Amino acid sequence: MATVKVYINGKLIGTTEDPEAFVEEVKAKRRSNELTNELNITYYEENKEVFIFTDPGRARRPLVIVEDGVSKLTDEIIDDVVSGKLKWFDLIHNGIIEYIDAEEEENAYIAMFEEDLTPEHTHLEIDPSTMLGICAGIIPYANHNSSPRNTMEAGMTKQALGLYVSNYNLRTDTRAHLLHQPQMPVVKTKSMESTEYDKRPSGQNFVVAILSYQGYNMEDALVMNKAALERGLGRSSFFRSYEASERRYPGGQEDHFEYPENMVRGYRSEEVYKNLDEDGLINPEVTVNSGDVLIGKTSPPRFLEDVDEFGTVAERRRETSVTVRHGEHGIVDKVMLTETIEGSKLAKVKVRDHRQPEYGDKFASRHGQKGVLGLIVPQENMPFNENGMCPDLMINPHAIPSRMSIGQIIEMLAGKAGCMEGKRIDGTPFTGVPEEEIKRLLRENGFETHGREQLYNGITGERFKAEIFVGVAYYQKLHHMTSDKVYARSRGPVQVLTRQPTEGRAREGGLRFGEMERDCLIAHGAALSLKERLLDESDKYEALICGDCGRLAVRDKIRDRTYCSICGETETFPVEISYAFKLLLDELKSLCISPNLVLEDKA
Ligand SMILES: [Zn+2]
Repeated sequence: MATVKVYINGKLIGTTEDPEAFVEEVKAKRRSNELTNELNITYYEENKEVFIFTDPGRARRPLVIVEDGVSKLTDEIIDDVVSGKLKWFDLIHNGIIEYIDAEEEENAYIAMFEEDLTPEHTHLEIDPSTMLGICAGIIPYANHNSSPRNTMEAGMTKQALGLYVSNYNLRTDTRAHLLHQPQMPVVKTKSMESTEYDKRPSGQNFVVAILSYQGYNMEDALVMNKAALERGLGRSSFFRSYEASERRYPGGQEDHFEYPENMVRGYRSEEVYKNLDEDGLINPEVTVNSGDVLIGKTSPPRFLEDVDEFGTVAERRRETSVTVRHGEHGIVDKVMLTETIEGSKLAKVKVRDHRQPEYGDKFASRHGQKGVLGLIVPQENMPFNENGMCPDLMINPHAIPSRMSIGQIIEMLAGKAGCMEGKRIDGTPFTGVPEEEIKRLLRENGFETHGREQLYNGITGERFKAEIFVGVAYYQKLHHMTSDKVYARSRGPVQVLTRQPTEGRAREGGLRFGEMERDCLIAHGAALSLKERLLDESDKYEALICGDCGRLAVRDKIRDRTYCSICGETETFPVEISYAFKLLLDELKSLCISPNLVLEDKA
């Protein structure tokens, strides 16, 4: 038998002649607590390698140990767990349940249900849905979805707004979102019980109809009921905390919270200070806009300067107030004054912004079906059924077939049944309430089992020829909101180095005219538009070039003359170049390369 290498945490530490027996022995010792239960061992037969891992940071999950096709988790043990005689860690120490990492899972053969067990099986799922993590665990009927949609939802649920903590009112998170009326989902999963999702939910139950509406829900846009939004659907608050402290500087000088006098260097304008009190702090419940001062603060001058006529140094303090960020606005929620560890004054101001859903806000169901709000329809124009009920949300039928998110269809049926029954439906993947049961509940409540209903056009009152699928789905408001992104700029700041416009909304930057946009103008032959975007409205620079040597010449404004620092008083010509190109010439010079421009007459 060939020798098999043994690695511990990636380090080769020895070999074994009988890998199977070795691996079995290590596993047996782990199960009998001779070795730590945090150890995992894997045998790769094709590579003749045994890997042992004890590293921190591996994702591991618990499984029931199976021997000879029999689960170690017997009914007696379950009874002991239920009565409290045995705890979770007893199950691990007694070798009934063990944690497996991704590597060891390669050697495992895991049964989903106890009745599926065969002698080949090594493990049994505690519940099939435990193969999903916390995020994927909130997807009801995930086993009916295509896996990319489940993966997408696992990512998106982290972006959902909700009740993120219950003491948000006492906290000063730099930024925080809060959903105003979070609801427990009508269709729940078992994972939610473990993560106590119901105590901190992050979504609301929407009545959803799957139909197009005048094209305003094409390409995954959403059409919502205006009345529902006015009742508080999808409403949230955004909080941002600002802070400042009275720093002490060497030399005994310090910052001051105060209403800055107009003597101060960098004084803004009376307008932005108008809400400050004498202590330099703003008051709660004041409406503020971007640029308004929240904490008035002055700092000592950076350098000693300005000797006045008496020979003393006039202290001209600097303005260092904290202002509302560019592009943001809101209402002052809280003003706190305390002190730092060093004992200097510390002020924190929390600003709140009320967010009612608006065009472009992003929402998603729990099945990777995301979209942005495309139209808000007055309730009287919404389609309605024979009871006069109209949906909160209309999604486009094209959102379903190619994505195969059947879980959403079942969730909507289950949600509808749950609402009519006044109870929550268990939508746990693999073991949830089956479709037949949902259909039975719907039938009992006078609905069609397929979930479709006769709807009437809200505008004309005519009956739609097709029946429309209507149900209740849990929708999440995601933290990508229009008011955080909407932006335009005409003129604004430029970078010092390149003289090109700054980048990004927070820096009042320009809108990038990228490579593909450039290609587009070239294709149109719009040469002047191209020059305008890339040069005139960016980093246009007029360089003086020496006619003799072609290098950058100098303009001496004081003596009103131009000259070349190499050739002397020669004829110079102004040439229009981009400042970035001038920068390139300078950088080449720093590499001991002297570039020169060959000038020609303008065509
Ligand atoms: Zn020259």
